[in-house]
Amino acid sequence: MIARSLTSGVEQLGDMIAQASSIVPFTGAGISTESGIPDFRSPGGLWSRNQPIPFDEFVARQDARDEAWRRRFAMEHTFAKAKPGRGHRALASLYRVGKVPAVITQNIDNLHQMSGFAEPDVVELHGNTTYARCIGCGKRHELDWVREWFHRTGHAPHCTACDEPVKTATVSFGQSMPPQAMRRATELAQHCDLFIAIGSSLVVWPAAGFPMLAKECGAKLVIINNEPTEQDEIADLVIRHDIGETLGPFVGN
Ligand code: NAD
Repeated sequence: MIARSLTSGVEQLGDMIAQASSIVPFTGAGISTESGIPDFRSPGGLWSRNQPIPFDEFVARQDARDEAWRRRFAMEHTFAKAKPGRGHRALASLYRVGKVPAVITQNIDNLHQMSGFAEPDVVELHGNTTYARCIGCGKRHELDWVREWFHRTGHAPHCTACDEPVKTATVSFGQSMPPQAMRRATELAQHCDLFIAIGSSLVVWPAAGFPMLAKECGAKLVIINNEPTEQDEIADLVIRHDIGETLGPFVGN
C-alpha cells in the first residue's frame, strides 16, 4: 500500500515500529544523498558520469586500477566531509533503544558506523571505501598510504606483503560477495518482524533479494524511496518521499 501523504506514511511507520520487536533496516545509496554523497541511478548520480570498473578489468589492467584510484581520490573530499543524515541518525536511535539489532547496508561510506552503530552491527554487503585491501592476501592498507604511493608514482599501489594489487575494500561488479556478511544478512532477514528498505533502487542482486526474503519469512515490509521500485507491490507500506523527511521524526536524543 502506498502512503497517501508524507504525514500518513510517517504515522503508519510509527505504528509499525511501535508494534515490532525486531526491526531490520536495509539501506542503499539514497540514505546518504542528504549527506552529500551522490547515489548511482538518480539523474546526476555517479552512473551518469562514470560506468563502474568491473573486478576482472581491475585485476587485469594497470590502467583500470589507476583509473579506479583516480576516481576514488576525486571523491575524497565528498566522503571525508560527509556526516550522518537524519536517516542514519533515526536508525541509530532505534538501535540504541534495542529495537534494531543491526543494519544491512549496500553502502560503502561508513556513515552507519559514524552514526553510532557498533562496527559488527553494520552488515556491509558491498564493503567499505574508507580503507583498502590487497586482493591477493587481504592485508588492510590505509588510504593515506595509498594516496602517498599514488601521488609519488602516478599509479595504483601493490601490496607490501605479497605484491598483488591493492583496491578499496569494496565489492566490485564481478567480485564475489563477502560470505560472512551474506550469512548475517540472511539470518537478520529471516528473523525480524519488520524489514525497512531505505533508499535503494532494489536492482542490484543478490542484495535486492533480502527484502523479499524477509517478507517470505513473515516480516512486514516497508519501502522508503522517492521513486518506484520493483518490490513495491509486495510491500505492506510504501513511502515515496524524501528519506530525511520520513525518518527525521524518529531521531531520538
Ligand atoms: P541506487 O543509486 O541504485 O538507488 C538509490 C535510490 O535512492 C534511487 O531509487 C533514488 O531515487 C533514491 N533516493 C536518492 N535520494 C533519496 C532521498 N533523499 N529520499 C528518498 N529516496 C532517495 O542505489 P543502491 O540501490 O544502493 O545501489 C547502488 C550501489 O552503489 C550499491 O550497491 C552501493 O554499494 C553503491 N553506492 C554506494 C554509495 C554510498 O555508499 N553512499 C553511493 C553510490 C553508490
